[in-house]
Amino acid sequence: MVSGFKNPADVFVIGGGPAGLATAIAARRRGLSVVLADGAVPPIDKPCGEGLMPDAVEALHQLGITIPEGEAYPFRGIRFVSDGIRAEAAFPRGTAYGIRRTDLHRVMLDHAAACGVHMLWQAAVTGLHPEGALVAGELVRSRWVVGADGTSSRVRSWAKLDQHKRDAPPKKNLRFAFRRHYRVAPWTGFMELHWGRDCQVYVTPVSREEVCVALISSSPKLRLRLKDALGEFPELRARLENAELASSERGAITVTRRLRRVYRGGAVLVGDASGGVDAITGEGLCLTFRQAALLGDCLASGDLARYQKGHRRLIRRPALMARMMLFMARHSRLRQRTMQVFQSSPRSFAGMLAMHVGEGTARHLISNGIALGWELLKA
Ligand SMILES: Cc1cc2nc3c(=O)[nH]c(=O)nc-3n(C[C@H](O)[C@H](O)[C@H](O)COP(=O)(O)OP(=O)(O)OC[C@H]3O[C@@H](n4cnc5c(N)ncnc54)[C@H](O)[C@@H]3O)c2cc1C
Repeated sequence: MVSGFKNPADVFVIGGGPAGLATAIAARRRGLSVVLADGAVPPIDKPCGEGLMPDAVEALHQLGITIPEGEAYPFRGIRFVSDGIRAEAAFPRGTAYGIRRTDLHRVMLDHAAACGVHMLWQAAVTGLHPEGALVAGELVRSRWVVGADGTSSRVRSWAKLDQHKRDAPPKKNLRFAFRRHYRVAPWTGFMELHWGRDCQVYVTPVSREEVCVALISSSPKLRLRLKDALGEFPELRARLENAELASSERGAITVTRRLRRVYRGGAVLVGDASGGVDAITGEGLCLTFRQAALLGDCLASGDLARYQKGHRRLIRRPALMARMMLFMARHSRLRQRTMQVFQSSPRSFAGMLAMHVGEGTARHLISNGIALGWELLKA
């Protein structure tokens, strides 16, 4: 029985992951009444690299959320490792954090509760209704319905927001991921991205004695699992092979998808449900929090056309970074030359990282691109 809250509510959020919680918080901050439902039981886990870049930390701040001391582990930059070449750079400003998904979920859920979001757990939504949506067959009435139900969103299809052939991602935009935690002290203050022949492995420190390791590969035919993939990275394997396993291996897909529309009538999408960028960027959560903040404003003003316009703008930079990184992933010779340039000219890697986390202007972006191109021609 779904009761105990204002019915009809202003906003009904379907999905209580980072996107749903962030949107619920943003809408409450604008004075709207919010009900949220999720089929799972908190704290919700999800395969993820578990890195919050400085721009994601900033976006969380904008929603009024500060990660409490001790809940996360700070790191100061990114290190690329490819065929024995390494390049690293610190973030131009701010701190990044590695945080277990369950911890991030708990922090966000506590904040949502304190903001007055009414949350229903183990409450799968089964369909939309002209006056709201159905939870276990019961109608929850609301003015707006927000689909924050992840990559395989059903709200997206219920609201007919994926009907055009351009809404379906091409096969090459679909990649396969596995994640596992190892009990070992982080050996560096950087998040590491190891580039392999057909895969990438990234390592995020999440506490003083634990790292999160995520593998992403392009083809399900490879059936690549972490223990096999590590064979390609002897240095990493040596660090992990005697470490106690701190979680079971869990799989997920990551999809680069751009929808033509993200709302229809009173139904609107946010987070991975609304499209997204490949996990290799580590920018999914930042994008999600920014979309949520914008959506909260647009729900309050009743202007979803503004949300759609802003949504397009927000995805531009992460999408560009994803394209560049996936290009590097697919072209090993170019990758090695780029790595040589990054190694011999740390400023170019620092420039790229700054761009990645949204620092610098379009002029910086262009001049950095030209400088990198020139170095590549010389290499
Ligand atoms: C391997 C991998 C590594 C990643 N690494 C990073 C990283 O390091 N940094 C980063 O910023 N991003 C990373 N990302 C991206 C990030 O995980 C996602 O962008 C983020 O989880 C999106 O949140 P979401 O709330 O949209 O979706 P989800 O987290 O998938 O949440 C969707 C929620 O909806 C609920 N739900 C689904 N259907 C229903 C229904 N019918 N009724 C009710 N509830 C429903 C689910 O139970 C779930 O809780 C990574 C992604 C992958 C796959």
